[in-house]
Amino acid sequence: APPATKSPGELDGGARPHVMFIPSAGMGHLLPFFRVIAALAGHDVDISVVTVLPTVSAAEADHFSSLFAALPRVRRVDFHLLPFDASEFPGHDPFLLRWEALRRSAHLFRPLIGGATPRVSAVVSDVTLTSHVIPIAKELCVKCHVLFVSCATMLSLVAYTPVHLDKKVEQGPGVGDVDIPGVRRIPQSYLPQPLLDLNKLFTKQFIDNGREIINADSFLVNTFDALEPVALAALRDGKVVPGFPTVYAIGPLRSQHNSAEVEKEEEATGSPVAWLDEQPARSVVYVAFGNRNAVSRDQIREIAAGLEASGCRFLWVLKTTTVDRDDSAELTDVLGKGFLERVQGRGLVTKAWVDQEALLKHPSVGLFLSHSGWNSVTEAAASGVPLLAWPRGGDHRVNATVVVSGGVGVWMEHWSWDGEDWLVTGEEIGKKVKEVMSDATIRASATRTGEEAAKAVAEGGTSYRSMQQFISSLKAT
Ligand code: UDP
Ligand code: UDP
Repeated sequence: APPATKSPGELDGGARPHVMFIPSAGMGHLLPFFRVIAALAGHDVDISVVTVLPTVSAAEADHFSSLFAALPRVRRVDFHLLPFDASEFPGHDPFLLRWEALRRSAHLFRPLIGGATPRVSAVVSDVTLTSHVIPIAKELCVKCHVLFVSCATMLSLVAYTPVHLDKKVEQGPGVGDVDIPGVRRIPQSYLPQPLLDLNKLFTKQFIDNGREIINADSFLVNTFDALEPVALAALRDGKVVPGFPTVYAIGPLRSQHNSAEVEKEEEATGSPVAWLDEQPARSVVYVAFGNRNAVSRDQIREIAAGLEASGCRFLWVLKTTTVDRDDSAELTDVLGKGFLERVQGRGLVTKAWVDQEALLKHPSVGLFLSHSGWNSVTEAAASGVPLLAWPRGGDHRVNATVVVSGGVGVWMEHWSWDGEDWLVTGEEIGKKVKEVMSDATIRASATRTGEEAAKAVAEGGTSYRSMQQFISSLKAT
């Protein structure tokens, strides 16, 4: 084609920026995208969202529908994946497989970005796709920002790992301990498990994306300055990787709740909110392990025993499958006979999708027993609820280091990690839950972190200003 007079990324004076979001899969990745999109929709910006249907889980499909219903001016850009043979990767998590399918179809983003009207001025990509999306954006002279859905410490690990591997003298089978300059040392045992094997699909994606991210125009990170001052400073000062792009810490991200929906949920009898309304202030332990972590049946029994033994009230969002919770397992079979009867009145167990962000804000919740998925950590931080971290896999242990350093809660470092074949006993879980529930120091620290979080996103706060700067940069393109 003949060269255009203007490159696609160039705007006419005063034109509205058009931002195309390219999320990946899993609610932990989609929710932060939806929260940023909703925040940006209130500004003078055109927004498109690349949407792959069918989604992996029903929760993702529901949330896509709600997004487009709530924000009719946001454009849905359908994206059709090329056929992908998942049998090449037996035993892999369906969300990771979706990331790979997206990566293998990524060249199709070029016509999508280049051909959109109005002209796309910037792309906001998920980190799992960056090694493909950044080069395409560069070629089209479109800015490429990355919305990073984990913590700044994890971002420093992603950015530094390729450098670490290039420098590594001793060639072990995995990544090994990583000493991130200016941030901290991450022992190999804290790393996402696949990184112990350089041939794993996740590891290949992780390293390819890590090599390319230095070429992004900026990063949006769901964290705030007071929560991760060290990692943010090291990234910004070029200590982790010299010349690292601008890092906007814009968290904790929040949903812009449709009040009608929340009210509907509050009214429904038997809803977790209605049940929480009946409980004394800060008396309930909220238990949940995210949207893609199934805990083994045996470990579930121990958790049940622990909650029962703690004597505390509890709300448990139980999940027995990796994708969704609408599985056919009966609660009685999973929890053991008599459990639900014995805890009746003081414990509620649900397999349904809940509005976790809203539940954590409920005054009856006093503790969050969590896998420390990053969204869960930021939601706990925002609500000032202490978090008892029991990492299961992926980035959870790296996140747990921030739970501790940022005063969000405590980390049970010796508790089992996914794939380890031993159980944390109900006795130990019960004892710990009881202990943390009555620990005034932990509670005070979580309250302080909650206040810092509120300050960060309030007008004039660090995250508020970062978001404003990001929006100004979109308009200055
Ligand atoms: N979530 C929710 N309701 C559920 C399960 C999960 O609202 O029933 C939300 C939760 O609040 C969080 C996200 O889904 O925002 C899960 O992300 P996180 O990073 O905590 O964990 P992941 O699922 O990615 O491991
Ligand atoms: N990640 C990354 N690059 C990749 C894949 C993953 O930086 O190519 C990061 C990302 O922050 C993700 C984290 O590694 O949140 C852990 O990945 P996991 O498989 O546990 O997924 P998640 O918990 O995000 O759903």
